[in-house]
Amino acid sequence: MNMKWNLQHSYSSLPNKLFSFQSPIPVKSPKLVLFNHELAQSIDLEVSDNELDKLSQVLGGNVLPENSKPLAQAYAGHQFGNFTILGDGRAILIGEQLTNSQKLFDIQLKGSGRTPYSRGGDGRATLKSMLREYLISEAMYHLGISSSRSLAVVASGETVQREWENDGAILTRVAKSHIRVGTFEFAYQYLSLEEQKELTVYVIKRHYPELEGSKNPALELLKKVMEKQAELISDWMRVGFIHGVMNTDNVSIAGETIDYGPCAFMNVYDPGTVFSSIDTAGRYAFGNQPKITHWNLSRLAIALLPQIDEDQDKAVKTAQETLNQFPDIYESKYLQLMRNKLGLIGEEPQDKALVEDLLNIMNQMKADYTNTFASLTSGEFSENELFENDRFQDWYLNWIQRATKNGQTLEAAQKTMALHNPIYIPRNHKVEEALFQATENNDYSIFHEMLKVMKTPYQFNENFTAYQFPALEGDNGYQTFCGT
Ligand code: AMP
Ligand code: MG
Repeated sequence: MNMKWNLQHSYSSLPNKLFSFQSPIPVKSPKLVLFNHELAQSIDLEVSDNELDKLSQVLGGNVLPENSKPLAQAYAGHQFGNFTILGDGRAILIGEQLTNSQKLFDIQLKGSGRTPYSRGGDGRATLKSMLREYLISEAMYHLGISSSRSLAVVASGETVQREWENDGAILTRVAKSHIRVGTFEFAYQYLSLEEQKELTVYVIKRHYPELEGSKNPALELLKKVMEKQAELISDWMRVGFIHGVMNTDNVSIAGETIDYGPCAFMNVYDPGTVFSSIDTAGRYAFGNQPKITHWNLSRLAIALLPQIDEDQDKAVKTAQETLNQFPDIYESKYLQLMRNKLGLIGEEPQDKALVEDLLNIMNQMKADYTNTFASLTSGEFSENELFENDRFQDWYLNWIQRATKNGQTLEAAQKTMALHNPIYIPRNHKVEEALFQATENNDYSIFHEMLKVMKTPYQFNENFTAYQFPALEGDNGYQTFCGT
């Protein structure tokens, strides 16, 4: 095995309750289906084409890379509001790749077999869901949104039983880390105060070295994670991304989008949009994402209380005051992104109302979120009820006035907008088509074409028209499933 890794194992220096050493469980006949050369290169993994077969063995979990100390991480989480002890039930951290520029990335195999945290699960994943994660996470990355990335998909040659039989697969995930809000919730439950502090010190050193030496590291960490999450969620709102399972075990401390399950992109603007079949109450609806993030951060704050102050009443007070700032932090980031979407320079008191008015009209007119902003950006208004609507036309005049304030030309405003308004998002019906053709007909052409489209989502390409519009019949009750 000549592939050159530079694997570190910093996580295993943490208190041993936080993980279990565990190797991936071998699979029958691993076959590399997708490999992300560009990502491999960017993390200084040297692979040559004639090694791709060997890679199937490694990334399928049958052969460990040199110097690997595989482990599964323990964590807990609030799932739909209920506290549960979890852990990597079907994922193995094979190591942390240290790049030439000294950046550290977790390399994790997902779907790699049972672990001590598998509970009743089989430790496996379906090819379809791993392809879905690969496609959407790469799309998110190229949309400029902080995300875990996908290095490879290996078909296992085994079947995986869900509602029906599926082909199995293993995804190689690359992330800044897989430390979650739920990791701190686990630490709070099971570790001594000293050990909890070790985790905080580790996270600060790994992700936020600028906080090293602070007087109250746990409090500073909370503030940092609040800021990172505000940035992340506002970016989701910018492109219409709905995560679908914002449980605290799926919230990354490093501020990346992780754990792609029943996620999907909104077409028609409606804050109530939910695609996940199990989210019947709409807890994780598009418009709820900021509020849920606030709630998730409050779980982090609780887990950090013993570290924030010895005096728990004081700790609660300090944490509460800090958490109370979240709505303002979020709103200012969100508003700035929406200003970018509308090409507005500077800040004016009426900006928030301008954004809200447009969204309300779009909601009422059932307008496509992505394409409405794309039209404003290009100045090309196709025949569309929205654009003929009186309320929209009034709004449009207000917008022109605001966008051209401070001597900015409309063209300049539109140039800014083009950087923030994607033309292409992974449209649900195209995602389904790509996955169907790949898994049912072993035809990856649409999948690869879609990956290509999503590499430059802000650049119009006349060959990609099919990817620009929602399905003719609309979402039509489109549902995504956790049956992964
Ligand atoms: P998720 O909803 O994908 O974030 O998963 C929640 C928890 O269930 C995590 O601890 C996963 O590791 C675990 N899990 C999900 N699917 C499986 C499976 N097939 N086998 C074992 N554990 C699983
Ligand atoms: Mg998860």
